[in-house]
Amino acid sequence: MPVLPTKLPNTGTTIFTVMSALAAEHGAVNLGQGFPEFSADPALLQAVTDAMAAGHNQYPPMTGVPALRQAVVAKLNDLYGSAYDADRDITITAGGTQGIITALHACVGAGDEVIIIEPAYDSYDPAIRLAGAVPIGVPMTLDYRIDWDAVRAAITPRTRALIINTPHNPSGRVATSGDLLELERIAEQHDLFVVSDEVYEHMVFDGAPHESVARYPALRERSFLVSSFGKTFHVTGWKVGFVAAPAALSAAFRRLHQYTVFTVHTPTQHAIAAYLANPAPWQGLSDFYQAKRDRFRAALAATPLKLLPCEGTYFQTVDYRAVSDLPDLDFAKWLTTEIGVAAIPLSVFYQRPQERGHVRFCFAKREETLALATQRLQKGLRG
Ligand code: GLN
Repeated sequence: MPVLPTKLPNTGTTIFTVMSALAAEHGAVNLGQGFPEFSADPALLQAVTDAMAAGHNQYPPMTGVPALRQAVVAKLNDLYGSAYDADRDITITAGGTQGIITALHACVGAGDEVIIIEPAYDSYDPAIRLAGAVPIGVPMTLDYRIDWDAVRAAITPRTRALIINTPHNPSGRVATSGDLLELERIAEQHDLFVVSDEVYEHMVFDGAPHESVARYPALRERSFLVSSFGKTFHVTGWKVGFVAAPAALSAAFRRLHQYTVFTVHTPTQHAIAAYLANPAPWQGLSDFYQAKRDRFRAALAATPLKLLPCEGTYFQTVDYRAVSDLPDLDFAKWLTTEIGVAAIPLSVFYQRPQERGHVRFCFAKREETLALATQRLQKGLRG
């Protein structure tokens, strides 16, 4: 057998798979990997069945079902004041992760540098490396705000692109208009592309707006906006998302998309297109998760864990240093095997692991699941 070449020699198994396996093995409540525990709206499920029965079972256009691209454009342009065109600027993808890797391949190449804000979602680093480029991690401030001075200091003549993520996984922070204006200035000044991961766009709390790159015309012109339906409609396993980008960027994106993915599951696209006609499901999502966040935080307040801010997403980050001196990966494993609650350690989201004693819980779970988890934490953790 020849030696297997690998473009990712130092990459192990994603932390989400590792912690889910450990949770299953030990019967722990899995608040690690982020996925909703609720079933999707029966109307959405029925719409997929209806689309299949109606014969929507062959390849859709390479760029996606037209009705879905039109529904996406209507929502984006209405919410963010953009002027995307359904035919030219929108491509339906196999989830956000594919949108991100294909966007990166479309805009960076060998030797280019791409800035990622750390903690950074774990697919960014390998996606950049697979494109032949170099990920440059820029840590957030200690309270998980984007450190724009540090971003500026990291820019070199080789910097080609920057990835932003708001609402932010894993910290639960939400970018402000000030952040987006800074990003716009920096991107223009240094002529950078922006890949904007907005998959939690409909989970923003306390009345704050979602600051999409689509709201900022100069930024929009150089951005690949990536989002998906999995989080919004409780169907993360469907792996259907989209990329919105101006014509030239979308053309470059599609050149790669046509030969790597070509297109995604037809009936699901028809179903989501029809379902998007009713705005109530996504309009109600922030309130739904905000109520869960509040109940979850109230229960965690009765433990020695220190709550960090949660402004968006379905993730709550905590500081456990009153409980344990373990490094965060060891603590997350201990919590899973000994206390029966799985969490995600934050150090894995850095190039140079930062041991800050922080782990992330996912609260997209039924109330009885969260109650069981918080009872175990209240009983098992001593400050
Ligand atoms: N996005 C999910 C999370 O942050 C994980 C998805 C995956 O398992 N790859 O938990």
